[in-house]
Amino acid sequence: MTRVVLITGGSRGIGAATARLAAERGYRVGVDYHRDADAAEAVVRDIEKVGGRALAVQADVGREEDVERLFDEVQSALGPVTALVNNAGILERQARVDEIDAGRLGRVLSTNVVGAFLCAGAAVRRMSTRYGGVGGVIVNVSSRAAVLGSPGEYVDYAASKAAVDTLTVGLAREVAAEGIRVCGVRPGLIETEIHALGGEPGRVARLAPGVPLGRGGSAEEVAHAILWLLSDEASYVTGTLLDVSGGR
Ligand code: NAP
Repeated sequence: MTRVVLITGGSRGIGAATARLAAERGYRVGVDYHRDADAAEAVVRDIEKVGGRALAVQADVGREEDVERLFDEVQSALGPVTALVNNAGILERQARVDEIDAGRLGRVLSTNVVGAFLCAGAAVRRMSTRYGGVGGVIVNVSSRAAVLGSPGEYVDYAASKAAVDTLTVGLAREVAAEGIRVCGVRPGLIETEIHALGGEPGRVARLAPGVPLGRGGSAEEVAHAILWLLSDEASYVTGTLLDVSGGR
């Protein structure tokens, strides 16, 4: 069976590493991005260079019409989507809860929570045996922040990831009998550009000494965990949240 994975936020960081590794493993890859078309096209080119197939699609995961178009475009170009990696995520400048306004909450929750729900729903409508599909796998990219709370940095972001964890557990049980497994990964401190959004590009280096393994992680290390959860090797794993955090 042709395996087609749609990766939201597949253009940079953890999503891009997952896209490249998925292609290496034989998946066709739908690379969703929001603003940075060049980054998305670069991932597609890398995949095509090694003989794989990929498509970049611009879509804001927080917008229902974008999500439907995203799934339809990937399906038309690459075939029925058999896997979803709900990876797109944002955070905003480090702040205390008493400094966070409704505008910021709306933006963070739109991408991290509404986006994850909309994409999961769109995937279920295409994969579930209830809708005539053949099943599939969804991996939600959460964060250790869901457990640690990110005090003084972004409790809003941490809370959005706790919602993603609850989505994972609830949806896994909802669709387990319909051929769909749903799992989550909770990365710790990973070297990507997301920390610059918080106003501290060097955050991983500052906090690395407190990680039991003594360092930050790479996007590729998270990608390996995601690819395992997507694979048949994880056929009896659903509703599981896998920490990829060096012990933090
Ligand atoms: P990143 O390097 O900042 O990349 C974020 C990706 O998400 C980009 O491809 C971006 O596309 C896309 N994106 C952002 N908003 C979007 C939207 N509304 N619709 C569609 N795509 C959107 O981030 P990252 O560090 O790889 O993070 C990936 C995931 O891992 C996130 O969910 C994050 O919360 C989680 N995570 C990261 C860490 C870490 O330490 N890095 C730790 C725990 C969890 P554009 O460039 O086009 O905007």
